Amino acid sequence: MSDGKKHFVIVGGSLGGLAAGLALRELGHDTTILERNPTPVLEHQGAGIVAGGDTLAFFQKYNRCDRPIAVTSHRRQYLDRDGNVTHKEDMDQNMTSWDLAYYLMRANYDGVESPYCKVPTGKPTDGKTVHLHDRNVTAIKELDDGVEVFWKSSSGEEGRIQADVLVGADGPSSTIRSILAPEVQRVYAGYCALRGTVPEGEVSAVAREAFCEKFTFFHCRGVQILAYLIPGPDGTVEPGRRLINFVYYTNFPEGSPELAEIMTDKHGKRHRITMPPGLTDSTAWEKQRRIARERLPPQFTEIVCATRKPFVQAVTDVLSPDHEFLGGKVVLIGDALAGFRPHTVASTSQAAFDAMVLADYVEGKVSRERWKRETLGFARYIQKRGVEMGNRSQFEDLPLGEHIHDRNVASVPREKEVYPDWATAI
Ligand SMILES: Cc1cc2nc3c(=O)[nH]c(=O)nc-3n(C[C@H](O)[C@H](O)[C@H](O)COP(=O)(O)OP(=O)(O)OC[C@H]3O[C@@H](n4cnc5c(N)ncnc54)[C@H](O)[C@@H]3O)c2cc1C
Repeated sequence: MSDGKKHFVIVGGSLGGLAAGLALRELGHDTTILERNPTPVLEHQGAGIVAGGDTLAFFQKYNRCDRPIAVTSHRRQYLDRDGNVTHKEDMDQNMTSWDLAYYLMRANYDGVESPYCKVPTGKPTDGKTVHLHDRNVTAIKELDDGVEVFWKSSSGEEGRIQADVLVGADGPSSTIRSILAPEVQRVYAGYCALRGTVPEGEVSAVAREAFCEKFTFFHCRGVQILAYLIPGPDGTVEPGRRLINFVYYTNFPEGSPELAEIMTDKHGKRHRITMPPGLTDSTAWEKQRRIARERLPPQFTEIVCATRKPFVQAVTDVLSPDHEFLGGKVVLIGDALAGFRPHTVASTSQAAFDAMVLADYVEGKVSRERWKRETLGFARYIQKRGVEMGNRSQFEDLPLGEHIHDRNVASVPREKEVYPDWATAI
């Protein structure tokens, strides 16, 4: 473009793609998001998000909606099997919900109206923003001055669009990455996260005491469960209407009948990575409730058994060797670059950080070398940390102090991390 403005095509319209779109439009660049989901908005993608420093910094910088975005937890604490607090540390952490983050970004990006927030007015300097759903990107072609992107809709319609730069924000099973780095595999880690939410107003006083405005954990051999409060319906942060969100990691060996059972839905369909909310088979879930009663503290048992729409995520590992391809015409961000294990509580922060530092590079505020070292350093270092934390938690029998240490290490703000040379090598 003659005025120095570029057209970025962003593949993937989840939190990473929207973050990139918002950061680039602020610089005046035009963006088009292509999202394969056949409906105009993504629904039921997740539950709670620990909003790390980069997530908060992102919203501070790019969110123009005036409303609270998180619930603050004031303490981290660990329970024993009987439900007694055995260790606690005072510490503020901010927790939000996937849907609130998503609707805020959509309101800001392309003016999607929702009960979550008012749509803010745009600035005359904003780049053009286009969000297209039902666009499954299937191929790309390098051009002299950009990239041509090919898509297909669910009804078989086909199309193409030209980009100066293509941003692959298409998640841990990224199509863009599989085209450019086909050797990269997404690998099952040997355990799943059983997840759900329960309204805070529907639990016992003992459970409220354990989870309200606290980030609470329990570990035993092969098990880790944690819970915290998140915004409630339509993103409300009003006390009494918020949700308790839990993540319950438990081992299901690869190829085992137990894994097949939990990942086969009520209609008999086998899911590989995610069992969406509302589809869990009732017999399989009843078995998990029974196991929960046998091994979890009473407060955790209560919320696991009370959740109405559990969902299951197989924990996986994936890491791309690079984030820049075709001489910079294609860039990967977020989960497409590195799929972290959830213990790191860093996936949304990675997406936010990658978008912000990409915008700084595009604007000329940071050098190419610094952009590469910071993006790759975060991806490689935190990906490795997640593997180690997860394996120590699920496959070793360690004293609680070791898990507390791991959690404290994972809470170090990104700016204070010192990446080793192997992580930042370019
Ligand atoms: C079921 C689920 C639950 C989650 N829950 C949480 C949570 O509770 N807390 C949390 O912190 N994080 C959660 N995450 C992770 C979090 O959503 C991501 O880390 C964050 O959104 C940043 O990832 P991303 O945008 O890079 O990739 P993703 O969120 O994986 O998004 C990738 C997007 O790309 C789209 N896409 C993929 N291939 C194509 C293609 N070929 N063409 C067009 N579009 C394509 C997908 O439909 C998807 O919308 C969850 C993820 C999933 C899948």
